[in-house]
Amino acid sequence: MPTYARADVAFERGEGAILWSSDGRRFLDFGSGVAVTALGHCHPHLVKALQEQAAKLWHTSNLYRVTGQENVAARLVENTFADTVFFCNSGAEANECAIKMARKFHYEGGDKGRFEIICATGAFHGRTLATVAAGGQEKHMKGFDPFMPGFVHVPYGNLNALRAAITPQSAAILVEPVQGEGGIIPGDPDYLKRLRATADEFGLLLIFDEVQTGMGRTGTLFAHQHAGITPDIMAVAKGLGGGFPVGACLATEKAARGMTAGAHGSTFGGNPLAMAAAGAVLDVMLAPGFLDEVAHWAGVLGSKLTEVVARFPDVVEEVRGVGMMIGLKCRIPNTELQAKLLANGLLTVGAGDNVVRLLPPLIIREREIDEAIDILARTLSEVTP
Ligand SMILES: *Cc1c(COP(=O)(O)O)cnc(C)c1O
Repeated sequence: MPTYARADVAFERGEGAILWSSDGRRFLDFGSGVAVTALGHCHPHLVKALQEQAAKLWHTSNLYRVTGQENVAARLVENTFADTVFFCNSGAEANECAIKMARKFHYEGGDKGRFEIICATGAFHGRTLATVAAGGQEKHMKGFDPFMPGFVHVPYGNLNALRAAITPQSAAILVEPVQGEGGIIPGDPDYLKRLRATADEFGLLLIFDEVQTGMGRTGTLFAHQHAGITPDIMAVAKGLGGGFPVGACLATEKAARGMTAGAHGSTFGGNPLAMAAAGAVLDVMLAPGFLDEVAHWAGVLGSKLTEVVARFPDVVEEVRGVGMMIGLKCRIPNTELQAKLLANGLLTVGAGDNVVRLLPPLIIREREIDEAIDILARTLSEVTP
C-alpha cells in the first residue's frame, strides 16, 4: 500500500555507519532506520548471535518458558528501575502494554473510574488506534474515528497545564523524555522531576515512552537517567533489537500488579530469535565504557554541528537535542534539506516542527563525524538562498 512517501533508493548492503545502494552509491547513515540500528549495520557480535540462534531455535511461543527472554529481562531489570518486563515486537505495542497496565493498575486498586492518561501535545506513541489517540496528532488520526477515549493532551513542558488537567479520572502521565517525531524537543530535567513528584502527589503512574530515546541514544542507557528520576512504566523498542523487531514494556512490580496470567499476550513477543538480538545488543551497550564513549562522541558531534550551522543562519535556525538524538530546526523546508543531504550521501530523518533529525549509530567516531560535517557544510552552502 502506498502508505509511505519513500525516497527512490534501495539498499543492498551495510557495514557500520555505511550503506551501499543497489545502484552502487555509498551513503553515510545518520538515520539508523529511525534510531533502530543503534550499533550500525552488520555489527559482528549481532550477526554472530543471530546466526547461531537461527541454526538452533527460532520460535516456541509464550506457552512455554523462553530462556533468552528470562535472561534479557533479568539484565534489563538489573540495569533499570524495573522489576518486571513484557516483550512485544514494536514501540506501539510496548505503549499499548503500558496503557493497559495503567488502566488495570487502578482497576485492581478498586478505582475503576481512573482510566484517563494525560499526554503531551506533539507526542508520538505509535500508529495503533490506542497509540494514535495517545499521540493526539490530527495528521495521524484524521479519518480513523471514533477515537479511543481516555487520553487528554496538555502542552509539553508545561507543568501548570498538566496539573490543571488532573481529575478524579486521571490514571497516568505518559510522555517522551525527549519528543522525537515531534521535532527533537528535550524535556527539561526539572520538568521531568516535577512530573515524578506530581504523579506521586496524585497517585498517578508515570509512564515514559523511551522507544526512541532509550538504548543509549542520549548517552545514557535511558534518557530519564539524566533527570535522576525513574518512571513506574517504560516503553522501549527501536534500538533494543539493533534492527530486529523487539519491543519491551518495563515496570515496577507495583505498577504491574494487574498484569496477571491471561491479562495480556503476544504470539511473537520475546521469541528466541528476537531475544538473541536483544541480548547481543545489551552485551555491547552494557560493556564497561561503551555509553561513556557514546556520550563523548555525541559531544564532539554536537559542537562541530553547532559550529557549521552557525555559518548558515539562513538555512538552519537551531541545533538541539541530547546525545546522538539531534534536530536541525530549518528555515527552508526540512524535506528539501533532507533530499539534498541524501543526494550528497548523508541519510537523515524528517520530524515535526520543520526539523531534520540526525540519529547516527552509536558507534560513530571521528571519521564518520567529520564526513557527516563535510557533507552537511557542502549541502548547506548549496541550499543557502
Ligand atoms: C517510533 C516510536 C514509536 C512507535 O514505534 P513502532 O515500532 O513504529 O510501533 C512510539 N514511540 C516513540 C517515542 C517512537 O519514537
